[in-house]
Amino acid sequence: MNLETKTKITWCPGCPNFLILKTFKEVVEELEKEGIKKEEIVFTAGIGCHGKIFDYLNLSSFYGLHGRTIPLAQGIKLANPKLKVISFVGDGDCYNEGIEHLIFAAKRNADIKVFVFDNRNFALTVSQFTATSPKGFKGASTPFGSIEEPLNPLELVFSAGATFIARTFTHETLHMKEMMKNAILHHGFAFLEILQPCITFFNNISFYKERCYLLKNENLESTKDALEKIREWDYKDGKKIPLGIFYKVQKPTFEDEFYKKNC
Ligand code: SF4
Repeated sequence: MNLETKTKITWCPGCPNFLILKTFKEVVEELEKEGIKKEEIVFTAGIGCHGKIFDYLNLSSFYGLHGRTIPLAQGIKLANPKLKVISFVGDGDCYNEGIEHLIFAAKRNADIKVFVFDNRNFALTVSQFTATSPKGFKGASTPFGSIEEPLNPLELVFSAGATFIARTFTHETLHMKEMMKNAILHHGFAFLEILQPCITFFNNISFYKERCYLLKNENLESTKDALEKIREWDYKDGKKIPLGIFYKVQKPTFEDEFYKKNC
């Protein structure tokens, strides 16, 4: 199966979403060589610039708009636990519109993989602030600057019960590939935050390049270490932004428990 589609790509030229698309395709090709067929991979996508990936990837997929991409993924996984189910979602879609779905999917340890394209603004609708926009962010809905502090979504999913939590950056493509693959192969709820600058409305490429560093991935089961690293960057200025796996543990998934009780 060829992953290309005939749809014309309408992301802004140079948008880092191109890097995500290319990297994800490479991950799918690698997984296929390791025995996971493309037909066994399904993804969902939501509303926003990220959601256009739906048209650019020739894989089984469903749209679930305005925060619904995560419950859609859970339903697909529950109906057919053999599938690998990935939920692509933007920060506005995930943290503003559908935050309750994110919390409950993590709490249930649903065996889905949530990849957040976090550009820290509602870019498709020409830049309103989102939950991860920094305080002072100037956009269409906050022309004088946002007066709210940003949310740390990693801390939120950690508190909710996520069993895999990682962060990567679009301009660290090899790292992004490794994180995507690790998340997909994790048995349980995997949360991958992808720092994806929006070059049109919030170009923070150099901000990230100056601050991002790679974690050593030690003591991945330690809640104390995970929380310490998760809190190292609070989405404000910060001096350092850790990339890598913060936390990884094995627990029964929602689907494991469901089929044990109902079959
Ligand atoms: Fe990418 Fe921003 Fe353009 Fe959307 S508006 S396609 S996120 S650069």
